[in-house]
Amino acid sequence: MRDTLVLNASFEPLSTVTLNRAVVLVLQDKAVVEQAHPGLRVRAASMELPLPRVIRLSRYVRVPFRRRAPWSRRGVLVRDRHKCAYCGRRATTVDHVIPRSRGGGDTWLNTVACCAEDNHRKADRTPEQAGMPLLRMPFEPSPADAMLLSLARADLLALPKWLEQPAA
Ligand SMILES: [Zn+2]
Repeated sequence: MRDTLVLNASFEPLSTVTLNRAVVLVLQDKAVVEQAHPGLRVRAASMELPLPRVIRLSRYVRVPFRRRAPWSRRGVLVRDRHKCAYCGRRATTVDHVIPRSRGGGDTWLNTVACCAEDNHRKADRTPEQAGMPLLRMPFEPSPADAMLLSLARADLLALPKWLEQPAA
């Protein structure tokens, strides 16, 4: 499901919600559309509005603490822009820099995007042991980065059919 980024009234990214939820928030005047998918509109109730990509809450919401971006394989691929950390070619897998068998964990700092070939070649070794230096060091994305990266991947072609405007 396509997600919409939610900004606080102060423009600080808060979270993502489903498109349906975003539309409801706008219809209830709890949020305004800050950025819309170009040329796309959604019919909701008896209204028509721009398809929200980013909405901003009308009232400021106090956030007690900032959540860290939860680790995920998909998140690692997005963070590394689907480029292999060892050769720079297209990555489809996630490599544990310190292999799991040696105590390496599922963390942002221990995982990198990796092409299937290099993942196989590196196998159960550290980069040093395998003679495969990292082209760049893994890093922990901020929650806002993680959300923006996931939004950047959104593909207009992936829009659900029911959201598309019928041809005039
Ligand atoms: Zn590679």
